[in-house]
Amino acid sequence: MDDADLLRALGVDPASLDPAPETVRMTDARQRFNRPCSTCRARGISTGTVRLPHGCFWLDSCRDHMLEGFRLRAGRWPAAGDVFTVLREAAAEAGVALTVITDGEAG
Ligand SMILES: [Zn+2]
Repeated sequence: MDDADLLRALGVDPASLDPAPETVRMTDARQRFNRPCSTCRARGISTGTVRLPHGCFWLDSCRDHMLEGFRLRAGRWPAAGDVFTVLREAAAEAGVALTVITDGEAG
């Protein structure tokens, strides 16, 4: 699911979203707090960005739509093993030692 799919699943019209910078700083995001939810117009409690073919846009969310966004995005997050593989490859490429600790076990 890409960000366009996410917006379709949430029922958000991409044309209704405000443009966002390519690189978001915390101060940019702080200014978005309490904006109406992009999905239902209730008071927003979180913000983030979506990347569409024509740029980046703010996606403001109320509690329920923030959680729905997490659920919808969860399917596209890599498995933990994939993340560790990428980290190990990056560490090897950088020539640094890497120790990953999960649940108290080093790997
Ligand atoms: Zn909402």
